[in-house]
Amino acid sequence: MRVFNFAAGPATLPLEVLEQAREELTDWRGCGMSVMEISHRSKAFVSVAEEAESLLRELMGIPDSYRVLFLQGGATGQFAAVPLNLTRPDSVVDYINTGSWSKKAIAEAKQYCRVNIAADEAESKYTTVPDPAALKLTPGAAYVHYTPNETIGGVEFPYVPDTGDVPLVADMSSTILSRPIDVTKFGVIYAGAQKNIGPSGLCVVIVREDLLGRVRPETPSILNYTAMAKDGSMLNTPPTFAWYIAGLVFKWIKAQGGLAAMAERNRVKAEMLYRAIDESGFYRNPVAKNCRSWMNVPFTLARPELDKKFLEEAEAAGLTNLAGHRSVGGMRASIYNAMPPEGVDALIAFMREFERRYG
Ligand SMILES: *Cc1c(COP(=O)(O)O)cnc(C)c1O
Repeated sequence: MRVFNFAAGPATLPLEVLEQAREELTDWRGCGMSVMEISHRSKAFVSVAEEAESLLRELMGIPDSYRVLFLQGGATGQFAAVPLNLTRPDSVVDYINTGSWSKKAIAEAKQYCRVNIAADEAESKYTTVPDPAALKLTPGAAYVHYTPNETIGGVEFPYVPDTGDVPLVADMSSTILSRPIDVTKFGVIYAGAQKNIGPSGLCVVIVREDLLGRVRPETPSILNYTAMAKDGSMLNTPPTFAWYIAGLVFKWIKAQGGLAAMAERNRVKAEMLYRAIDESGFYRNPVAKNCRSWMNVPFTLARPELDKKFLEEAEAAGLTNLAGHRSVGGMRASIYNAMPPEGVDALIAFMREFERRYG
């Protein structure tokens, strides 16, 4: 039996995608082999790769002046790749610190260049985003980096920072494809696949073409945007199966009505869950209302000694992986694109019943 899986990542995938993958697993498109077993340079695989890219371009409205890369090393690899591709050791870069993932990106960047913290939400315990007017941006910075959705804290920017001519770099791992965005506002967008795109092992990078060619000479080739763009992300063997599944997920999103339809579905799911939390006297979400994530909804119980029971009973009811990140505790429901509205309905019904019995 399929459960409703609220894991933050690797996360639930659309059932239709898994069913198609199962159907094609041993004999893909009449090859007599699985897609995992064919050369990444074969015509058949190259068509899969190209189709995935063109679907992503169509879904996100990515202009021709951007390159789309399918890389490895996760979003964490990009924490190093971004400064290596866009700076010199004496460059200044601006980072907005809104929580756990911002901090990791900052720590990595500090190894390669001079990091200015343009805003730090420590005072609110990372339950807020900075006011746009409060950003202390460096004129002439090599780039500005931010995390549109903090997967652990459940904090999401309700705006895109305006950085003028300075390239804006976004770690969209846990929010990409959740709604339409204006790609032209960004210099680089990157996202580990295992939240809203597909299996882990793949990282999608969308980079504006004029930012290529700035790479530092010591950059490992597999993190080198310029080299990877030149070789169609096939400088070495790419994660072919993950790439193939990503293509199926893009096709699924398109069939759902694209990103506008995804956004509406996500907005409704999130609003229902936050309303259930706010209306109870038992559950609580600490995040400021203007920046609550549509994708990751952390919440606590009025009595933390009930956490274990909550998780056990939820699991028994087919609602899994609701424990909060090990760094914060409590609960977290990740409700990415592939979480159906019925999953959120079931969670809310369970939460109400749990509160009735133990609240
Ligand atoms: C999951 C996540 C990461 C880490 O991704 P890896 O692929 O494990 O390196 C980085 N940033 C954000 C916002 C994430 O959600």
